[in-house]
Amino acid sequence: MIESAAVAWERLKNLAGFKGERDAILTTTLSTSRLDDWRQYAPTFLKSEFNTFVKTRGVSREQRHGLEQDLDYVLDVIKYDVTPKTQGLAVFVDGQAGLYERVELPFRLLNRLVIEPAPYIRPVVHALSLVEPFVVARVSRDESSLYLVDEWGVPQAEDELTGPWLRSSDRETGELSIKQYYAAARQDTLVELHYKEVGGALAKMLESSGARRVVLCAQHDIATAFKRVLPSAIAAKIAAEMAFDAAETPAQMLERARQAALAARQQEIDALAVRIKEGLGVGGRGVAGFDGVLSALGRHQVQTLLVDRNYRPPGWRCRQCTWTGLAELERCPVCGGELVAVGDAVGELVRLALLQNGQVEVGENVPLLEELGGVGAVLRYS
Ligand SMILES: [Zn+2]
Repeated sequence: MIESAAVAWERLKNLAGFKGERDAILTTTLSTSRLDDWRQYAPTFLKSEFNTFVKTRGVSREQRHGLEQDLDYVLDVIKYDVTPKTQGLAVFVDGQAGLYERVELPFRLLNRLVIEPAPYIRPVVHALSLVEPFVVARVSRDESSLYLVDEWGVPQAEDELTGPWLRSSDRETGELSIKQYYAAARQDTLVELHYKEVGGALAKMLESSGARRVVLCAQHDIATAFKRVLPSAIAAKIAAEMAFDAAETPAQMLERARQAALAARQQEIDALAVRIKEGLGVGGRGVAGFDGVLSALGRHQVQTLLVDRNYRPPGWRCRQCTWTGLAELERCPVCGGELVAVGDAVGELVRLALLQNGQVEVGENVPLLEELGGVGAVLRYS
C-alpha cells in the first residue's frame, strides 16, 4: 500500500535507528512500474547481485543461510504482494532480528541490492524530499478552494469554502447612497470573515497533511488582504503566489501551481546553500564537505543536511560505531573497530542526520553545493 509522505517519513526515521544482531541488513530497491518488465527481470537481478556479494565478501555458511532466507522474503513480496499502483518498492530485511519493512512509492527507483550494517534508506529519503506535498489556496472575495497536492497516492482532499452570504444579489441593495455605504461596509466585514475562515481551514490542512508549502492563487489585491488576516506562521508558508485566472480549469491551475511550488523549492535549496557557505568558519553555523558534516553529526549538531542527489562516493564504515570515511584505514579512528566497505558513504550521513531528527534536503544542479563538496549542513548552534 502507498501511504502518505508523513507516515513514510516516520517509518524511515525508525529504520534509520535499526540495529540488528548481525551487521548485514538486506536492502533492495526496485522499479515496479508497469513500464518495466520487472516481474520477469527483478528475481534474476536480485539473485545475481546476491551471488556477487556472497562471492566477493567471503560470507560464512551460517550467515549465507540467513541472508538467503531474507532474500527469499523479498522474492515472495515481489511475487505476490505488490499493489498495482506501486511504481517503486523498497524492502528492508533482517529476519534474525525480525525486521521486515517495506515502503511502496508512486515513483520508480533504481534497481539495487545492498547488504550493509545499516538499512540503506537514502533512495527513499530522496524520493520523499523531491516530491513533497503542498497546498494550493485559490482565494477570491466570496468563494475559495483549498487543494492538497500529495503525489504519494493519497486521495486529494479538496475543501470548497464558499461564503453563501455574499451572493451577487446582496450587492444590488437600494439606491440610496447611505444604504450602499452600509451594504459595502457589511460586505467588507463579510469578506474579511471569509478570508479568516479560509485561513483557519488552511491552517488545519497544513497541520494534518504535514505539507510545508502553500501556493496562493488570487488577484493581487485579494492576496494582500488575505495574507493580512493570516497568522504569521501560516503566512510564512506561502512559498509562491500566482494570479487568479477565471478561465482556467482546476487541473490547469494545479499544474501551474506545481511548477510554482517546484521553482520555490529550488530557490529555497539555493538559499540554503548560500546560508551554509556564509556560515562556514569559526563561530558560524555552516559546515561543508564530507568530513566536516561527519564530525558535526558526531556532535549531534546538524539541523538541516543538504546533499547533492548525485554525490554517492563509496567508502568505509565502522562495524561498531557511526564513523564513516571515504578512505580505507586499518581500524576505526574513533573506537578501533573493524571497518566494512559501503557503496554510498553519503548515504550514511543521510541516515545519521535523520536519526538525529535533522531535516534532509536534496539538491540537484546547484552549482554552489558542488563547490561546497556535494554535502553541507546548517548547524543547530555554532
Ligand atoms: Zn568505530
